[in-house]
Parts: sequence; C-alpha cells; structure tokens
Amino acid sequence: MFNPFSFLNKNKIRVRIAPSPTGYLHIGTARTALFNWLFAKKYKGKFILRIEDTDLERSEKRFEDDILKGLKWLGLDWDEGPYRQSERLDLYAKYLEQLLKEKKAYYCPHTKEELEKEREWQVANNAVLIHNCDARNKNLNTGELIRFKIPEISPNASGNETTYPAHQIVFDDIIRGQVHFFTSLLGDFALAKNLRTPLYNFAVVIDDFEMRISHVIRGEDHIANTPKQILLQEALGFTRPKYAHLPLILDPDRSKMSKRHSATAIQEYKESGYLPETLVNFIALLGWHPQDDKEKISINELIGKFGLDRIQKGGAVFDVQKLNWLNSEYLKEKTAGELLKSLIDLYGEEKIIFKDKNNTLKLLELERSRMEKLGDFLDLKNNLLLKEYDANLLIWKNTGKEKIKENLRTIQEITRSIFEHEFNQKKLEIYLMPFANQQGRGEVLWPLRAALSGRDKSPGPFELMDILGKDEVLKRIEIAIKKLES
Ligand code: GLU
Repeated sequence: MFNPFSFLNKNKIRVRIAPSPTGYLHIGTARTALFNWLFAKKYKGKFILRIEDTDLERSEKRFEDDILKGLKWLGLDWDEGPYRQSERLDLYAKYLEQLLKEKKAYYCPHTKEELEKEREWQVANNAVLIHNCDARNKNLNTGELIRFKIPEISPNASGNETTYPAHQIVFDDIIRGQVHFFTSLLGDFALAKNLRTPLYNFAVVIDDFEMRISHVIRGEDHIANTPKQILLQEALGFTRPKYAHLPLILDPDRSKMSKRHSATAIQEYKESGYLPETLVNFIALLGWHPQDDKEKISINELIGKFGLDRIQKGGAVFDVQKLNWLNSEYLKEKTAGELLKSLIDLYGEEKIIFKDKNNTLKLLELERSRMEKLGDFLDLKNNLLLKEYDANLLIWKNTGKEKIKENLRTIQEITRSIFEHEFNQKKLEIYLMPFANQQGRGEVLWPLRAALSGRDKSPGPFELMDILGKDEVLKRIEIAIKKLES
C-alpha cells in the first residue's frame, strides 16, 4: 500500500520554490514557499530557490528583486540558490539533443496559424484539443517547436483506437491521493521553442532532477502539468519526486483569489503595515491547521506542528478579518519604541513624527489599541489635526451656549497657569478635575474634548491635552470660544 510518509529519510529531503519572475511576490507563491520551507526545516532538509525565467518576454528583473526581497522579509531564507533557468541553457540543450537523438522528441514544423486552424476544427467537431502532428516520425532537423513524443503503448483493454493510445498516468499525491490522467488527452506537448529556448514543463523536469528534489510541493493549478512531467521523467530515466498539490486560495465568494477582490502582492500587505510574523502565521493557515486548532502560532511552533498530512484538499478562503485580528495580536506584543521604529522604516519620519519623538510615543501608547495594522497610525495621527467643525458640537445636552463659553474660559485660565513641565495627563487631571466636578463633568469635559479634537469621537481630553501641548491647547480652546461667540 502507498505510504505517503515512507520518504521520511531525514537526510534526503530537498524541496524548492520555483517562482516565475513575471509578477510581484504573490500570496499564493509565499504560501507555497512557506510550506516548502517548513517541510525542509521540520525534516532537516534543504530549501532551494529557483527562478523560472524561461519566458523572456514576461520575466523582469524588478519582479525577481521583489520576490527575493519578499521572501527575505517573511524570513523564508533558502539554503541554495537563487538558481536561474536563464543561466542553465547549456544543460537544457544537452537533454533536448538527447531526446531528439533517441527519437523521444521531434521538431514540429507547424506554424501558429496552422495550429490555430487545427484547433478551430477541433472545437467545431468536439474533438480533443491536442496537436496531431504528421511530422512526429519524420525526424526533421528544425521546426517551429520541439515536441515530446508521447510514447506509443499498445491500445488499452477496451481496444479503442486513438491517435495516441489511451495510457494512464497515475501518481500518488500526498494531499489528494491517487490522481489519474489519460495520455491521450495530453498530446505531444511542447518542450522548447528551440535548443536554447526551453519551455516550462521541460525545464522544470530537468531542474527537479538535477537539483535532486525529493518533494514537489506546489499549487493545485499545476496538477495538470504533473502527468507531462512524469512522462518526461520516464523518457529520461529520472526518478519521480513525491508530489503534493496545495489547495487553491479563494476569495470570500469562493472564486479563485484575484486582484479584483483582494490585494495579492506581499508588498501591498507590507505597505499597509502587516507584520511579517502575522503574514507567516496567516498564510500557514491557508489550507493547513494544527491538530489543536490554535490560530496564533509562532514560526517555531509552526515548524514543530507542520505536516503535509494536515493539509486540506478543498480551497482555502482568504479571510481578511482574521488577518487583521492576528495582526492586532502581534502588534500588542511590541513596545511603543518598536512600533515607532517600524512606522518610521515604513513611512518615513515626516509622516510619523508628531511634534517630536517623545510625543509620538505618547500618541502611540494612546492609540495602539485601535490599530489593526501599522498604517492605521497615519489616520489616527491625521485625526489630531483640527478640522473645521460646527459650534453645536461644543454643546453638552441642554447647557446654554453662554455657560459652555464660560466653562471654556475658566479651563483656558487654569491651563495657562500650568507649568510646561507639569503639562502631562496626570497633572492636568489634578488641576482640572476639581473644576469639572464642581460644574458638572459633562458640562466641562465634553466641550473641552470637542474643542481639542473637533470631532464627536476622540481620545479623552487630558490625553489629548498632553499630546497636543500647551500652546496648541490654548489655541484650540480660543477657536472654540470664537465659534460660540459668532
Ligand atoms: N514557475 C512555476 C510558477 O511560478 C512553478 C513551477 C513549479 O512549482 O513546478 O507557478
């Protein structure tokens, strides 16, 4: 019987992340990287980074840079690499020549237009959409593409004659169990445009073999490539790695995660102020969960708990509320000093510092419980700027305008008499609360808070006074009094 864990020969685990640099580091790629990384860490194996840049038109250096930077930021360090397929062309040429020589591959002379016509006919006649090449046995020396010759095997038991006899490829997927494919549906797929321009399915097989990859752990979107890769391995006499195809990541409406619904690039999450430890924790739970169902799990705990056996088959829904909750939990573990440093690194001093560093730290202490992500601080800080507001905001219940104005004047006088060095939350309370208790807390503290914030919701008046500082407080009270006079 197939035992998916028979591979646990600890010395031989070699896994890889093989991103194509055709876009920014995607959440899905980050998850694949994390699962491979965890698997390697858990079994003391090696995690290899391979850049699959054979698609010259779509591959860009800036995407490669982003991918490397993103993986490092997440803490997913690699043991080997980055290897680049574009730097390994001699190797691919060698294997292509071998396949051509052994007549396991051939030059196909058909142009794009001819293939398009063939396809149109197949669509109209409900035929299998594969290229039936009349040159597969002609051994041409050149052509439009190099194709793999799906091996001819005697017709299957039912005796159906098909262009390519129905032969099944079966493989054991660690997550999905036994998977079957008919080679008759694959057709002679393309290996390369020419000896020096390999295509994905071919290059991946050569590299997985040359890099002695023991386990291919990748997204489910690659499952249809696996039978092609297995056929190639068989043609080249390579051993077959173990396969594990991870479930798709879905948007809340259960459609495949897309840019339209959610941010998909890791960089976007970094810029909004999610911590790397949050993202690692969160993406680990996209399709996997520990036995105890714990949700907040550190990277070290993850290494201990992780296993391919607890990965689900069904799609994993991306729940941004859970992400926000997790991030706020990780933010709680940081000191205000650490938060300030991260904020400055992310957004620069100019956007972050309010008056001075100390004051900004005070503001952070005051507001941090309201922050789900670091970027929320920008809004919270902006809320301290006084916006235009209506005089009615200053009125507490049925208290008359005159009374409110009088109270604000008295507060102004008391405030003016407080020394700068005593201008902190505690002392302000000691100086101002007796007056509030005497006149009625609502009648005094509401207009004061409204005058300081210009908003109906804000931190308390003494906290605000402390952060704004004496001059600004006096100025804002004056503005409020003027509003009541007009
Ligand atoms: N280069 C492929 C991608 O970026 C991954 C290939 C693989 O894992 O086999 O989707």
